[in-house]
Amino acid sequence: MSVLVYVEHAEGKFRKSAFEVVSYAKAIADQLSTGLTAVVIGNGDKAELEKLGTYGASTVLFTGNTQLSSFVNQAYASLLAEAAAKADAAIVVMTNSFSGKGLAPRLAARLGAGLVAGAVALPETGDRKFTVKRSAFSGKAFSFVTLLSDKKVITLNPNAYPATENAVTPAIEEFSPAVKESDLGTLVKEIIRASGKVSLPEAELVVSAGRGLKGPENWGMIEDLANALGAATACSKPVSDAGWRPHEEHVGQTGIAVSPNLYIAIGISGAIQHLAGVSSSKTIVVINKDPEAPFFKVADYGIVGDAFEIVPKLTEAIKAYKG
Ligand code: FAD
Repeated sequence: MSVLVYVEHAEGKFRKSAFEVVSYAKAIADQLSTGLTAVVIGNGDKAELEKLGTYGASTVLFTGNTQLSSFVNQAYASLLAEAAAKADAAIVVMTNSFSGKGLAPRLAARLGAGLVAGAVALPETGDRKFTVKRSAFSGKAFSFVTLLSDKKVITLNPNAYPATENAVTPAIEEFSPAVKESDLGTLVKEIIRASGKVSLPEAELVVSAGRGLKGPENWGMIEDLANALGAATACSKPVSDAGWRPHEEHVGQTGIAVSPNLYIAIGISGAIQHLAGVSSSKTIVVINKDPEAPFFKVADYGIVGDAFEIVPKLTEAIKAYKG
């Protein structure tokens, strides 16, 4: 019996959430006094794969199959089920990302496993059997789920568990089971990126703006601030509904849930549906001209004033500080 961790990469490079999920899986493997196998799909770069040993993976299985270089849910689920069988894994862990959210239930069904989605802490074992704390209702509450099944699948929220160095020299093995034609149900023809932008779900710094900005023509100052900080940009729902910003920037209950180290909310009132997706951010800074705006109740730092005056000054100050 072992633990398997599925590790995502972006064009061959691992991001912070990859090291977090490996560290988390390693801690579970240690709790159970067993080994950790990492599986990586569509990346055969040995130097990059070795980094997973730094966070505790003793074996790294990889497949360089080019048919699988873009995420295909059915095919990835089949491959992970085979990897779990090869590693004799009772527990499979992955990131609660867009692809992890799709993949985990499918894999759990294939393995006959219990599933916890959105874990935020290590499982409690012992008297509490195998109980995992997870984020519920878009981050407004926590629930504790006890997995009674022998096999378990867990998805870990980004930024919920620290990447912890645990140096191991991993055995790196190619693993290329045949992919069934029927598993390749979708074909990624083209990936179109917003060039040079920081990816929002993974961002450590986020500059977000709402209807207080009045119109899309005023987003230049938001982008200037984000660029000065090296931050991703985000927005409230009405802003993306109105087409002022693309939908992939919409955060909240019905958008992306983020938990960066710093979330700067500009001209956003702080409605409960917005807070649902951002309240686990480590530090929240609110800029709003209304001192009664609900967002101030959850802010670590608040500036009451006109965003059109404050934001350019803040950007200049950051640029001056950074030299
Ligand atoms: P407003 O509520 O209009 O607030 C604008 C703020 O800007 C005000 O606080 C105002 O004081 C301030 N302001 C105005 N001018 C300035 C200025 N010059 N300088 C500084 N501050 C200024 N919303 C989300 O964001 N995400 C979701 O996922 C989401 N899901 C929803 C799901 C459901 C089922 C429902 C019913 C609603 C959902 N909403 C969501 C909408 C949510 O209820 C709010 O309507 C929305 O968050 C408000 O957006 P806002 O704060 O940008 O706009």
